[in-house]
Amino acid sequence: MSSTTPTQFVCPECNQSIAINDAMKQTLLDAGCVVCGAPIQSADINDTPEPEPD
Ligand SMILES: [Zn+2]
Repeated sequence: MSSTTPTQFVCPECNQSIAINDAMKQTLLDAGCVVCGAPIQSADINDTPEPEPD
C-alpha cells in the first residue's frame, strides 16, 4: 500500500473533480482551480473522496 494516495479535489465553482497529489494541492491553493481559475482554500480540498449521486 502506498501512503501517497491521490487526493480528490472538487472545485466549488465549476464542480470539476480532479485527483491531485501534494504538489498539485499546493498549486491549487496558490494559483486557483486549473479549470476555471476560482480561488481555492485548503477547506475545499478533502482527503476523503465522496461519491456524488447522479
Ligand atoms: Zn473550477
